[in-house]
Amino acid sequence: MRVLGIEGTAWAASAALFDADDDSVFIDSDPYQPDSGGIHPREAAEHMADAVPGVVESVLAHASETSDSGAPEIDAVAFSRGPGLGPCLRIVATAARSLAQTLDVPLVGVNHMVAHLEIGRHQSGFDSPVCLNASGANAHLLGYHNGRYRVLGETMDTGVGNAIDKFTRHVGWTHPGGPKVEQAAKDGEYLDLPYVVKGMDFSFSGIMSAAKQAYDDGEEVEDICCGLQETVFGMLTEVAERALSLTGTDELVLGGGVGQNARLREMLAEMCEARGADFYAPEPRFLRDNAGMIAVLGAKMYDAGDTLPVADSSVDPNYRPDQVPVTWRGDDES
Ligand code: ATP
Repeated sequence: MRVLGIEGTAWAASAALFDADDDSVFIDSDPYQPDSGGIHPREAAEHMADAVPGVVESVLAHASETSDSGAPEIDAVAFSRGPGLGPCLRIVATAARSLAQTLDVPLVGVNHMVAHLEIGRHQSGFDSPVCLNASGANAHLLGYHNGRYRVLGETMDTGVGNAIDKFTRHVGWTHPGGPKVEQAAKDGEYLDLPYVVKGMDFSFSGIMSAAKQAYDDGEEVEDICCGLQETVFGMLTEVAERALSLTGTDELVLGGGVGQNARLREMLAEMCEARGADFYAPEPRFLRDNAGMIAVLGAKMYDAGDTLPVADSSVDPNYRPDQVPVTWRGDDES
């Protein structure tokens, strides 16, 4: 079975082919890079309109080259239905609908955050992990219960990557800020910043205001970056540990672009080791936004008969993971 996935919730115009027969994933992505500031929804949508045809063509060409018949041999087209920026989602959905109709194959609507989780579950072979999604626009813990991925805890304000990017914009660094903070933190000394965890939820707005204030007060930017990482990732590690403890699960997977940060992975791995849990972080190309994870979950959904009539395929910018009936696990009693 071969599924073509299309992703375009924010910055990555991406298409992929997942071949379930040999478990291979071919991805072609074309990122939007703002000239200044953060992601501008209109510019991002213009980027999607320009870039999606190219990445889809490249994946179709790959599909033809790797099939016996020389035709693409696609069984279904999957796309990110949300959450994400509405103008971007609509362009990607339009592309997916027209491609599915042209190829005369079913359409599959994928929740982008569930895809961040499922790529880790698929690659790790874990049965029923807790997932920490640490991405640009989101930060939450997911755990499976009664046929849905439940949100066990989440940010009470911005996503974790967006919070970091707000600080780096204040400092004058170009988008994305996360990799620059990671680099600068290596030369910094820990600086104390507010740590806000409330039960299973957490907040980044106070720490970001304090980090900006520290910069304006003349603190070394490397020290602020070090303090930011230790504090924000410490908060995420604490709630991830609490989620493991409360659910009794001994498997943790990481999802989302901030998961590319080596210090975050190190803290999570240490916590898991200390409590005898297994930890899995996908390789970077599957952590940041990518169509590979959309194609992989799309294939599981297609296999379960979870396809979407074109008439019902509207996008949802606020699509939460717990709105998705999990049709593809076949164990909805746990
Ligand atoms: P979502 O998946 O919630 O829609 P998104 O579309 O913004 O989020 P992702 O690709 O998951 O995209 O994550 C992008 C974020 O990851 C950006 O905020 C970026 O700064 C951050 N990021 C990338 N690399 C690193 C890193 N090494 N350390 C910390 N943050 C990073």
